[in-house]
Amino acid sequence: MKQVSLKLINVSKVFKDFKGNEVRAVDNVSFDVQPGEFVTLLGPSGCGKTTTLRMIAGFEKPTDGMILINNVNVVEIPPWKRDTAMVFQSYGLFPHMNVAENIAYGLKMRKVPPSDIEKKVKNILKVVGLEGYGDRPPSSLSGGQQQRVALARALVVEPSVLLFDEPLSNLDVLLREQMRIEIKRIQKEVGITAIYVTHDRTEALTLSDKIVLMKGGKIEQIGSPEEIYEKPVSKFAAEFMGKINFFPVEIVERLEDRTVIKLNGQVYTIPSLPTSKSEKYVLGCRPEGLKIASKGPVKGVIKTIVYLGNFSEYYIDTEFGEVMVKVLPPFDTTLSEGKEVHIDIVPEIAKIIQE
Ligand code: ATP
Repeated sequence: MKQVSLKLINVSKVFKDFKGNEVRAVDNVSFDVQPGEFVTLLGPSGCGKTTTLRMIAGFEKPTDGMILINNVNVVEIPPWKRDTAMVFQSYGLFPHMNVAENIAYGLKMRKVPPSDIEKKVKNILKVVGLEGYGDRPPSSLSGGQQQRVALARALVVEPSVLLFDEPLSNLDVLLREQMRIEIKRIQKEVGITAIYVTHDRTEALTLSDKIVLMKGGKIEQIGSPEEIYEKPVSKFAAEFMGKINFFPVEIVERLEDRTVIKLNGQVYTIPSLPTSKSEKYVLGCRPEGLKIASKGPVKGVIKTIVYLGNFSEYYIDTEFGEVMVKVLPPFDTTLSEGKEVHIDIVPEIAKIIQE
């Protein structure tokens, strides 16, 4: 498989809405994708991720900026000459062709000799775990199997960049989890550069080497899943990556690699560093970064306990609003709804977040 890099430089896209007003769908977006890297464009509905993907594919032309595939600007190159392939949410299989014919279609268009086509189709069916399914009509396959065929059809033409547009949204939860692992395995096995659009943070966390988190057409943060989850640059980034509790924080002292803070009068030293000296900050604690204790700076009353088998969620009313604490077994049976408790933080994983 070809190993190619992709680079977006100051890419913007302005649409006109039905009233003729300008909509800046993508606003000055720049990011790099290394050869073989799996990059996810993540963000809420309307943040511009699909438009960004469509510009990479060539279905939309940027209003401004450059898109480089292996250092060649492709913005003037039509989609079919761009060496990208897209896997869609709706599979897009031809119903009148069997699985093998569906997969072979792109190769036929490229005038690949029939004997090579047969070999390549057989090979790719093995890669996606559908050996022996070549003669079946797509309608006889499950959603997950159809999505695999769509993936095989995209992979078989050996594109430089594989693009995914929310490919798992139509699948049920179990199948989605299974396909997530499959996609990752296949992408790594084939070594292809991949861009994946989703609004599902779990998908982004499990699949990506790098996440590009978008908001309102702009990039909010770029980083590895760990970086964005553990060091969010903003409240938006922190909340988008998972449940988090915020507390007012006083910064007592900034040391070289840690910060001394005060929460409701109690002093802690935490590893997180504020990004600049003049901004306003909050303390961010994920549910796993809090504990219910006999002493602690935040007092509250247990409102609801949700038992989830391998952990429980405790929803606690406090002076700072509702706080959610994740508790692992063995569960303390004396903690019941209505009970007054204290909450303490786990300083090692607490974060200072720009408000
Ligand atoms: P979703 O997850 O809902 O698909 P998204 O993050 O992919 O959202 P886009 O589809 O890229 O977002 O849309 C970004 C913005 O651009 C939205 O405000 C959308 O309404 C607008 N937009 C997208 N395509 C067009 C178009 N062809 N004409 C006008 N406006 C458009």
